[in-house]
Amino acid sequence: MAFFSTINMAKKEGGCSFCGRSRSEVGILIAGVSGHICESCVQQAHSIIKEEDLGDKTKPTSEIVNVLKPAEIKGKLDEYVIGQEDAKKVLSVGVYNHYKRLNQPPSKDEVEIEKSNVILVGRTGTGKTLLAKTIAKMLNVPFCIADATVLTEAGYVGEDVESILSRLLQAADYNVNAAQHGIVFIDEIDKIARKSDNPSITRDVSGEGVQQALLKLLEGSIVNVPPQGGRKHPEQKMIQIDTKNILFVCGGAFDGIERIIANRVNRQTIGFTSSETERIDSEVLLKYINPTDIKTFGLIPELIGRFPVLTYLEPLDAASLKRILTEPKNALVKQYLRLFEIDGVKLTFDADVLDFIVTKAIEFKLGARGLRSICEAILNDAMYELPSKNETKYRVTLEYAEAQFMKSKMAKLRVA
Ligand code: ADP
Repeated sequence: MAFFSTINMAKKEGGCSFCGRSRSEVGILIAGVSGHICESCVQQAHSIIKEEDLGDKTKPTSEIVNVLKPAEIKGKLDEYVIGQEDAKKVLSVGVYNHYKRLNQPPSKDEVEIEKSNVILVGRTGTGKTLLAKTIAKMLNVPFCIADATVLTEAGYVGEDVESILSRLLQAADYNVNAAQHGIVFIDEIDKIARKSDNPSITRDVSGEGVQQALLKLLEGSIVNVPPQGGRKHPEQKMIQIDTKNILFVCGGAFDGIERIIANRVNRQTIGFTSSETERIDSEVLLKYINPTDIKTFGLIPELIGRFPVLTYLEPLDAASLKRILTEPKNALVKQYLRLFEIDGVKLTFDADVLDFIVTKAIEFKLGARGLRSICEAILNDAMYELPSKNETKYRVTLEYAEAQFMKSKMAKLRVA
């Protein structure tokens, strides 16, 4: 009762309607439709809201994403990723099961659906990162990419494995709850393979030790994470992250794994004389990859056990590369057309220019990764000059593309 009368009194006197202080006692007084609020009440209210918000962010919730059906997930992937049908299907099911698991109420009959962490095997530039990135965007969950090659065991020069989670936390804008449902893509996982199939007696700083350290993250435990990344040190304030519901996707080229597969399926790669035959043969072999091949390659069984989903990406042939140039939602050609359009220029490519770009990308063995640098090499002069001219059209002919490419740094690299 006393409280209301204070407010009324304050109102009468034109003071703060919340704390009751008079106009002379407060700094800034903000007027509302039927009352006033002083500066300090605004600040107090703001901190209450912030606390509530933070509470929300650390509170574990299970309903974060609307689960799309596997076919819908694949349909979305098709908009961005060309080919890679097997990988897309396997990944769609993996992601669907993962998020279905998250949305399940706690089980009464002890049936616990395990996490579907994924390993993607495929050469560089075939779309491993793109797949993981597209999934994260589609589900609207935080996503980060970590490079396994920079990770070392605690105590050695390099990054602790926890730094991966720091990155995820940053991607989640320090929203712990969102980060706990995010997706982590660990690139070049093959580079932390043990160097031989026999466990070494000496410490293997960048190999098995890191694999052991990674296990902790994958096992679904509470991990102390330095919010700013880097090495952990005693005085640092840590944020606790539960990794139980974080989806880990690993990618690697696993160079030479075809031979391991061949040995396992008792097929001899010896005897193929032309490198072309061997190339085609190894492409087929990748389809048969299974966890034992990854183990022979040098990943420890405990780690492999944490990745129930294993799939492969095919090397991209000329037809796929050409489709990548033009078809995906943000295809390179579409991007350049837009860039020129902004300057009022209608850009066109002669059809054989696209074939030329594809041929060069294959020559450089960079998969689709090479397409962009080749386009840049061809279009850089035009992008430099056109904004200062009054042209409204720009046609790229094969002759022009070849000449521009030949004088670029990229062509020189090839010669060297
Ligand atoms: P990696 O397999 O080495 O992770 P990325 O996913 O990073 O390869 O691919 C590099 C770039 O090449 C991507 O940004 C994307 O533009 C393009 N790309 C690669 N593979 C595909 C694909 N299958 N479909 C569409 N674009 C692709």
